[in-house]
Amino acid sequence: KNDMLEQWDRESFFHPSTHLAQFARGEAPERVIAGGQGVFIEDRDGTRLLDAFAGLYCVNVGYGRTEIAEAIAEQARQLSYYHAYVGHGTEASITLAKMVMDRAPDHMSKVYFGLGGSDANETNIKLVWYYNNVRGRSEKKKIISRWRGYHGSGLMTGSLTGLAGFHNKFDLPLAPILHTEAPYYYRRPDLDMTEADFVAHCAAELEALIEREGADTIAAFIGEPVLGTGGIVPPPKGYWDAIQPILQKHDILLIVDEVVTGFGRLGEMFGSLKYGLKPDLITIAKGLTSAYAPLSGSIVSDRMWTVLEQGTDEFGPIGHGWTYSAHPIGAAAGVANLKLIDDLGLVKNAAETGGYFVAAMKTALSEHAHVGDIRGEGMLCAVELVEDKGSRTFYDPPGKVAGAVVAAMLKEGVIARAMPQGDIVGFAPPLCLTRDEADRVVDVTARAVASVLG
Ligand code: PLP
Repeated sequence: KNDMLEQWDRESFFHPSTHLAQFARGEAPERVIAGGQGVFIEDRDGTRLLDAFAGLYCVNVGYGRTEIAEAIAEQARQLSYYHAYVGHGTEASITLAKMVMDRAPDHMSKVYFGLGGSDANETNIKLVWYYNNVRGRSEKKKIISRWRGYHGSGLMTGSLTGLAGFHNKFDLPLAPILHTEAPYYYRRPDLDMTEADFVAHCAAELEALIEREGADTIAAFIGEPVLGTGGIVPPPKGYWDAIQPILQKHDILLIVDEVVTGFGRLGEMFGSLKYGLKPDLITIAKGLTSAYAPLSGSIVSDRMWTVLEQGTDEFGPIGHGWTYSAHPIGAAAGVANLKLIDDLGLVKNAAETGGYFVAAMKTALSEHAHVGDIRGEGMLCAVELVEDKGSRTFYDPPGKVAGAVVAAMLKEGVIARAMPQGDIVGFAPPLCLTRDEADRVVDVTARAVASVLG
């Protein structure tokens, strides 16, 4: 065992999304992860943890799948890298493109491969602008996102993200990005609103924003089928049915960000299929490879594809590519991963065991005086904690209570995640979770909530 690691970590490693000062002082969590099997990870001291967040909701098939490890090793031996520019492909990248398109909604045409969800959304915005420029609609530039949406951490994608922590001190959001109401029924502005009232309110807010800015200036709307990092919030019934016609009426493209929801997490292959969405672009990452290797994608609709092709006749080859676009090792991982999702019936398990998990969480915790809301869809679940249940009051400062619950759970060997903005304990286990494992997560959550809040 290398006993220098902790010191090297503090001296040399700039960790993402970390309180840097606390980390340097040795006050922040520090853990060296050494292995993983199924829904468990293990640190180098041999402590086993049930990872009820699948890394960052990405290890959909679970850890330690030798089928994927072997596919990666075989690809590295055969051909570790070649680029995908000017029509080059590899057996893995072409096969994966075919497998993705076989699973995508029927009106989608092709998939462009990137590395992570953020770069895929950057690609999407560039394709939207290119599309409008080729059509002679260059004044249509602005993108509407939602408060509490999460779409990445880059300059453009951090702007799309509707969470203050990703804007503050970075001079974001950039000018062409607008935000509208989150479809967050629990946090509706007026407690007397029914779900239908609240959907009408969200639709009216969107219409008003489009009216204020001018439909001629708006290119696209981006949203996750179920809000993820912004609090794990399934939309109220009828939300997407109310939003889509507004976009169609104003010639505004729809980008559906399925980085979390794609490849089974909601109990369907895509959230777009679950909610009857007709996207122009779909963002994929995470579950595409179950994070065995980095790979993302932008799936482009038929109607956009026609214009992109036409644009290249006019302006030459499409000037957008990464060195690692369609990286063969990521693609080999993707092929083996999608096969495994089918072979193990994980989409069905996400629906069935996920449903069981959310129901069990409700049974265990709904009556607690400080549990304001329990919600979920497929293998996603959130427990929202509030100071006062009647008025849904936030704790002050927000986040501390959820952080304490998550820390108490960790002591009992279960990983959950305190979501930003509020006190929300989030769960997104691997799709192979069993009922016994779900029961354990629920028991540990209930004990942790009781230990922190009585
Ligand atoms: N879109 C959504 C919905 C996400 O949840 C994430 C990451 O969590 C991203 C985009 C960004 O993906 P990445 O972190 O791979 O850049």
